[in-house]
Amino acid sequence: MHIVFAASECAPWAKTGGLADVISALPKTLVKMGHKVQVYIPYYRQVAKAFSGPPIVLASVTIPFPSYNRFARVLDGGVIDGVQMYFVDLPELFDRESFYATPSGDYPDNAERFGAFCRAVLEAAKVIGVPDVFHVHDWQTAMAAVMLRSIYYFDPVFRKVPAVLTIHNAGYQGWFPPRTIETLLLPWDMFTMDKLEQYDKVNFLKGGVVYSDAITTVSQTYAQEIQTQEFGNGLEDTIRHRSGDLFGILNGADYSEWDPATDSNIAAHYTANDLSGKQECRRDLLHAFRLEDIGEQTAVIGVVSRFATQKGIDFIVDILDRLLQEDVVLVMLGNGEEYYERLLTEMAERYPTKMRVQVKFDNVMAHKIEAGADIFLMPSRYEPGGLNQIYSLKYGTIPVVRATGGLQDSIDEEADGEGNGFKFWGYDSTALLDAIHRALDTFRHKKVWEAMMKRAMNEDFSWDKPAQEYVRVYERVIQNRS
Ligand code: ADP
Repeated sequence: MHIVFAASECAPWAKTGGLADVISALPKTLVKMGHKVQVYIPYYRQVAKAFSGPPIVLASVTIPFPSYNRFARVLDGGVIDGVQMYFVDLPELFDRESFYATPSGDYPDNAERFGAFCRAVLEAAKVIGVPDVFHVHDWQTAMAAVMLRSIYYFDPVFRKVPAVLTIHNAGYQGWFPPRTIETLLLPWDMFTMDKLEQYDKVNFLKGGVVYSDAITTVSQTYAQEIQTQEFGNGLEDTIRHRSGDLFGILNGADYSEWDPATDSNIAAHYTANDLSGKQECRRDLLHAFRLEDIGEQTAVIGVVSRFATQKGIDFIVDILDRLLQEDVVLVMLGNGEEYYERLLTEMAERYPTKMRVQVKFDNVMAHKIEAGADIFLMPSRYEPGGLNQIYSLKYGTIPVVRATGGLQDSIDEEADGEGNGFKFWGYDSTALLDAIHRALDTFRHKKVWEAMMKRAMNEDFSWDKPAQEYVRVYERVIQNRS
């Protein structure tokens, strides 16, 4: 099967979160299974820095706008782990400081940026290779599915080519003013409630939900949640309408990147059979965060997260004063909303011997926290799939999570430390604190804790099974359209 991925992120070059990890891992698993996969991403400044002048595959792809054309180049990013990478080069749209936004807000031309990208992918695919299925991701590339079924409707080569949309986060939908319809040369009759319009805005993700042949999301629980008002963010009715074509597939972990037995970013290697290296990773982590004289009995609690309300950062803020009275230290790595960046930094200054915060995006440090912490905190308000809890399991760093989305599907709390983590329900910081207390109680029983670590490390969240589920979805939509 030939699959074209169109996405706005791909690790390691363009990453703000889990989407990037999925776009790097799922294609190579599909290739391992014998499929042909091509991945298109924008040629961001950050990508250009990593590749010195990749060869040009297409020198000029015409992307029409109402009173002008743009011209994209398609560059050959090479074959990486069997996956063919292509970069869409539109310097005026993608050669910028950031991917989507600056501290003062989203780029005002995001609709044009990602609309042009979608169109460039479709045009390029016509020349380079028409796939059996397009796989698009989140609002940024959802419009490729919309375009296929509208302005490309009469294109004979695309007639039978289905599109699958994966929703990695329904909290971000790409809302744009009505004139976006004209900017992207779409017919005005698509600006209705049953198609692209929502609350007088053009909603890219909604378009994807309406026009894709199947919709997947990154856990089974989240597939249920987004059909409710609480999590659907206004799209619940549209998604419910498509529930027969909606599939929840839990994300996997790329163990070639995230495995303490081989991870090149950490101080020592370790496995479930020989945990000794974890102590060294712990020392290395504490040193990196300048926390001295921390004994083995002190639990090291780690956080790696976007600092956003979604991630339950406010729950953590709420309980800090109480939590830090326990025999714990807290290390946090993240960036995002300035409010939380500042607040957490200030809190850390108040507790210099117990809490440290690094405000940045730092992949190596993320690995060090996974390896060096005892407990990983992830109290998300909602969590479509979540990868860090899955990585934590592999590193024997026991997760404490809120029971939502992918956290609910991957973390199991049982009496007497029989599960692989701790979880709480409710939107309630006291429930979080209680869950941490349960974790700390277990942590003090070294034998039970070690058994829990080993159980977590031996679990298999590799991509093999999820990739098979994606193939079943591809097969289904291909068959439905043939
Ligand atoms: P989301 O995609 O909602 O941000 P996920 O848990 O699915 O959350 O994925 C987050 C990914 O981004 C993980 O690979 C995590 O390690 C990484 N990450 C998040 N914040 C940082 C950071 N500040 N520095 C390095 N990596 C980060």
